[in-house]
Amino acid sequence: FDSAFPARTARSRELFERAKLTIPGGAGSTARLPRNGWNPYPLFIEQGQGSRITDVDGNEYVDYLLGLGPDILGHRHPVVTEAVVKAIQEQGTSFGLPYELEIEASEKVVAAVPGVEQVRFANSGSEAVGQAVRIARATTGRRIIVRFEGLYHGWQDSVYWSNHVDLDKAGSAERPRPVAMGPGVPAELEETLVVLTWNDAESFVKLMEERGEEIAAVITEPAVLNTGCILPEPGYLELLRSETTKYGAMLIFDEVITGFRIARGGAHEYYGVIPDLTTYAKGVGGGFPVAAIGGTKEAMRLIADGTYSHSGTYNANVVQCAAVSATMDLLAEPGLYERQRALGDRLARGLESIANDNGIDAYVTGLGTVFQLWFADGPIKNWRDAVAHTREGVFKRWYEEMLVRGVLFHPLQFENLFVSLVHDDRDIDDTLEAAAGAMKVLKQE
Ligand code: PMP
Repeated sequence: FDSAFPARTARSRELFERAKLTIPGGAGSTARLPRNGWNPYPLFIEQGQGSRITDVDGNEYVDYLLGLGPDILGHRHPVVTEAVVKAIQEQGTSFGLPYELEIEASEKVVAAVPGVEQVRFANSGSEAVGQAVRIARATTGRRIIVRFEGLYHGWQDSVYWSNHVDLDKAGSAERPRPVAMGPGVPAELEETLVVLTWNDAESFVKLMEERGEEIAAVITEPAVLNTGCILPEPGYLELLRSETTKYGAMLIFDEVITGFRIARGGAHEYYGVIPDLTTYAKGVGGGFPVAAIGGTKEAMRLIADGTYSHSGTYNANVVQCAAVSATMDLLAEPGLYERQRALGDRLARGLESIANDNGIDAYVTGLGTVFQLWFADGPIKNWRDAVAHTREGVFKRWYEEMLVRGVLFHPLQFENLFVSLVHDDRDIDDTLEAAAGAMKVLKQE
């Protein structure tokens, strides 16, 4: 950073020092710390409103971080906020027993997503994924989970592997070796996993031929949003569907990011591929902490008949169900997704042109309401391509120059930019103007 950042963020620096005394590392999630790109200290946030966020030093930003995805309706959407407050005031927060608002929330999710016939609410994406994986093992009586390199499915032991790991340890692209993402994960679990390269039809078909009948589930993000933004090759999701069906394995879509974001019906609607189980978090509660496991009635059978115990004190609490119910109503506005995808595309294309006009090699991949600008010199179909082709340092400089011009997004090239359903043309115009200034600086470096 040049001197502009420290001079603008003195109070954040002060608060970070104070936070470190009573919060390990200084923030509630390791993802918010300097080692995850927030150098030299994270911004401390005062408040967000709609598409904008303000830090404790009074700097305002157009917000493309959006809480790392949940704030699909921007910050403090008045309708959702009011629904939650009203439900708490009139009903309470949790009862340890079912209530009618829970049914309402489930009915609305089922109505929104083509392949979800039933849904259970939970508290975080990691939790939902952990349950989905275990449900698949219980249902099939099999052990092996197939996951892909560079994708992230939360912090449960069963899937906390092979996201962004040391390439030297990861073996060949034809048959990657599972690598735990950190200490504390039992090494024995390696035997319960197969890790593959994403978007590679050949290695997937080969694995299914060899071991299809051992596989409980294949889990994937339908578009990889944990390595920038990587879209599935035509036919790839369909192949995952047909091969899992053929061998009696379950297909799990981890739609923690894509759900209710790329379309109201998420990847089910956008790509027209229907998995057995789907995990949600982030968008489903319009910014409130709620997750969900959705599935066909057949996939939910063991929960329904009591064979499989899915439990949780806070599951489907009042805050969650009020938030889900109000969010689902707002998402049903006709034309909303088409409009916001077009807006996001205008931003993405605009950024790409500004970069290229300044002689900087960069291109965009995206789904409108989420995209990434790759500073890269080659096509990216999976995590290994991203490692090989991206210039992370250039991205970082771009982030820094945008931040001091009032635009916030994640500092890492392997994350992405989120556009909410309330961003508008003024936000995009302001962002493109900032980008014109930022790219000029990059051009001179
Ligand atoms: N799956 C995906 C695809 C995610 O992106 C994330 C979080 N970034 C998770 C699961 C875990 O969700 P949570 O942080 O709510 O536990």
